[in-house]
Amino acid sequence: MMFDLLIIGGGINGVGIANDAAGRGLRVALCEQDDLASGTSCKSSKLIHGGLRYLEYHEFGLVRKALREREILLRKAPHIIKPLQFVMPYASQLRPAWLIHCGLFLYDHLAKRQQLPASHRINLKNHVAGKPLKTHYKTGFTYYDCLADDARLVILNAMQAKQFGAQIFTRTQFVSADRQDDHWQVTIKNVRDDTTQTLQARVLVNAAGPWAENVLIENLHSPTTDHLTLVKGSHIVTPKLYQGNHAYLLQNTDKRVVFVIPFHEHYSLIGTTDLPYQGNPKDAVISEQEINYLCAVVNQYFQQPITTKDIIWTYSGVRPLKASDAKNLSTISRDYSLELDQSSAQAPLLNIFGGKLTTYRQLSEQALKILQPYFSNMGPDWTAKQALPGGDINTNNFADFILQLQSQYSWLPQQLLNHYANNYGTKVHQLLQNAENISDLGKDYGGGLYQIEIDYLKANEWAETMEDILWRRTKFGLICRPE
Ligand SMILES: Cc1cc2nc3c(=O)[nH]c(=O)nc-3n(C[C@H](O)[C@H](O)[C@H](O)COP(=O)(O)OP(=O)(O)OC[C@H]3O[C@@H](n4cnc5c(N)ncnc54)[C@H](O)[C@@H]3O)c2cc1C
Repeated sequence: MMFDLLIIGGGINGVGIANDAAGRGLRVALCEQDDLASGTSCKSSKLIHGGLRYLEYHEFGLVRKALREREILLRKAPHIIKPLQFVMPYASQLRPAWLIHCGLFLYDHLAKRQQLPASHRINLKNHVAGKPLKTHYKTGFTYYDCLADDARLVILNAMQAKQFGAQIFTRTQFVSADRQDDHWQVTIKNVRDDTTQTLQARVLVNAAGPWAENVLIENLHSPTTDHLTLVKGSHIVTPKLYQGNHAYLLQNTDKRVVFVIPFHEHYSLIGTTDLPYQGNPKDAVISEQEINYLCAVVNQYFQQPITTKDIIWTYSGVRPLKASDAKNLSTISRDYSLELDQSSAQAPLLNIFGGKLTTYRQLSEQALKILQPYFSNMGPDWTAKQALPGGDINTNNFADFILQLQSQYSWLPQQLLNHYANNYGTKVHQLLQNAENISDLGKDYGGGLYQIEIDYLKANEWAETMEDILWRRTKFGLICRPE
């Protein structure tokens, strides 16, 4: 079969482009060498944010673009993306108050805000956010961004792409591609059994994230290199450090910031670091130096210190940043570039370099705009308005949606109902379609994981292994015992 697009990589940018293209009527195939979202896209800080600190590097264009996107994504996927209040304790020796005021003013006004409140100053002595902090932090600033389930954002885009007819090949590696007049002859390999298959596609899209350079050199034998700078970032997870649903943005003396984010009800997610990285992104793990760094920043602010013993999970991801020789890795732009290789006018290759989780939808739209000359009859932009699977909630208030579900599934324990609502949105009805009482959920694996959910994930979300289910489709890995 001749596809219009063959996309390499099932991270957020690959599935975003696949979804956008398939929704415009293009014939799309995507191959991912492992599980969907198994690369950088499940190892982020999970923020849909403008990036307050990027203002210091004068990245106004990127911040505006990302701020605008927060509101769009909140509407598209209210089940997996939620507003998140940040509190920044004021430390006079780090950034002056006037600078923070200016930054927050810009953050409030660079893009239109309809759903998220504006920033303001708070008195930490009588604010709940002041309670866990050391007593000399008397003032703070608060502003809003959003918290997303990064891996599920990837899965939902892949599901929607499939609904539009895209073929999603998971555990399938892109091996090689040869230009043949007006198309590519592509070889892909099923890594489950090492069998290969050839496909034809008019356009090739390299969305392999931190592997994009590798794909160019090893699979496409391209002479050009140095498109990316790879930067490792790590997170630690501890039992919840404080009461409340707010997050903290902690300034450090090296001018970086560390986030402390409420994570799956009982935990705190703390990150991140910026370290140069070489090697296969799959092998990235946290170092002792990074653990000490993150603990030290938290301990500057919180009364109750944390140590290595409090850490119950860690993960490390590799940022594919646009190439730079900057010494301070935190200053490298988080924006993306899309580069069209037109060595053959008929069979182009589009390379995706860089990009954030937050900007994947705009990046995808821009990719399709670049490819428009090759597909004169493709449909118009559509992704800003249409909800992702499960996101078509008929109320502006997620709490009302939960109430609706409570009356429909009164037999479901509250915690399980919350989990289904937050993970699946309106797809909960498909998940529970044959269930009328708790025993209909099937085998109980503990911690809230039942057979019915595993079956749903295998049938609808490409889940194949325990890790796919426990660490990407859900975060039951945090509470389930390995056996
Ligand atoms: C520590 C950290 C924190 C971050 N925090 C945030 C944040 O809070 N907010 C935000 O907006 N952004 C954040 N980001 C950035 C964001 O996570 C990434 O920019 C984004 O996930 C990159 O997505 P991608 O699709 O380009 O790459 P990936 O998700 O890595 O996807 C690329 C995929 O290509 C596949 N692949 C590679 N080679 C082949 C091949 N030969 N054949 C088939 N498949 C192949 C890989 O297996 C991989 O799944 C963060 C990044 C890091 C590292």
